[in-house]
Amino acid sequence: MQTVQTINELKHIISLNKEKTIGFVPTMGYLHEGHLALLNKARVDNDLVVASIFVNPAQFGPNEDLDRYPRDIEKDTQLATDAGVDVLFIPSATEMYPFESGITITVGDLSTKLCGESRPGHFDGVLKVITKLFHLVQPTKAYFGQKDAQQLAIIETFVEAYNFPVQIVRVPTVREADGLAKSSRNVFLSEQERVEAMHLYKALQLATETWEKTSDLAAAIAKGKEHIDSNTSGKIDYLEALSYPALQPVTNETKEVLFATAVFFEKARLIDNILT
Ligand code: AMP
Repeated sequence: MQTVQTINELKHIISLNKEKTIGFVPTMGYLHEGHLALLNKARVDNDLVVASIFVNPAQFGPNEDLDRYPRDIEKDTQLATDAGVDVLFIPSATEMYPFESGITITVGDLSTKLCGESRPGHFDGVLKVITKLFHLVQPTKAYFGQKDAQQLAIIETFVEAYNFPVQIVRVPTVREADGLAKSSRNVFLSEQERVEAMHLYKALQLATETWEKTSDLAAAIAKGKEHIDSNTSGKIDYLEALSYPALQPVTNETKEVLFATAVFFEKARLIDNILT
């Protein structure tokens, strides 16, 4: 595996692999089995696998956890090597953003719901880095986890609307044995919170089941929220159901429904969802 830190080195490697299919997995590092599922899929599908580790300042708000986001480059390098990654791109913030262009990408309606509502500017920052990374890596396919369902919906829509020559591949959420979605931020949970955190998924399951049985969306959402409130010390940011990927109110015509939640614990805000 080649580890590169500069855009020039990355461009050079990509230029030498023009004939190959390239699978790309962008991450913020502190790799876990969720990331590995993306890397494994990319490995099976492509000639060359490129992964990136970049804790992107542009997608963090002023009071969020940019400075304390967990990092372990040594372990990540080992895991990426074991997963068969060919090129690991680990740029610095100044390498990625050497000057202020004054030009921004703004996500519209899709960022007014769910995480977009409580993290203003977050998805603009995601598209900023993804645009740059796609231009640099020129992937045939790029892999994203369903765990971040709103991010996936926005990236799928962006790529389609702006004709990026890349195929977006959805990878199902990888979970701990008790159902908690794997996340780099799970390390911030106290022992007690870690036990409680499985109830996010449980609440989403209850909500989904209730909706499927009764077609009563309000009752389904209430049931899910009630489950989180009575089984965790966390504070619900949202628990909602929307059409997917348009993120509009659910109607009889809705094909895919997203049940999604975000919950604040003491030192971590966790998200999870079920697509049904
Ligand atoms: P992150 O490092 O959190 O930015 O995540 C990088 C990629 O891994 C994103 O496409 C995430 O959706 C995906 N990912 C994170 N956690 C999981 C998980 N538990 N299962 C599947 N994919 C995940």
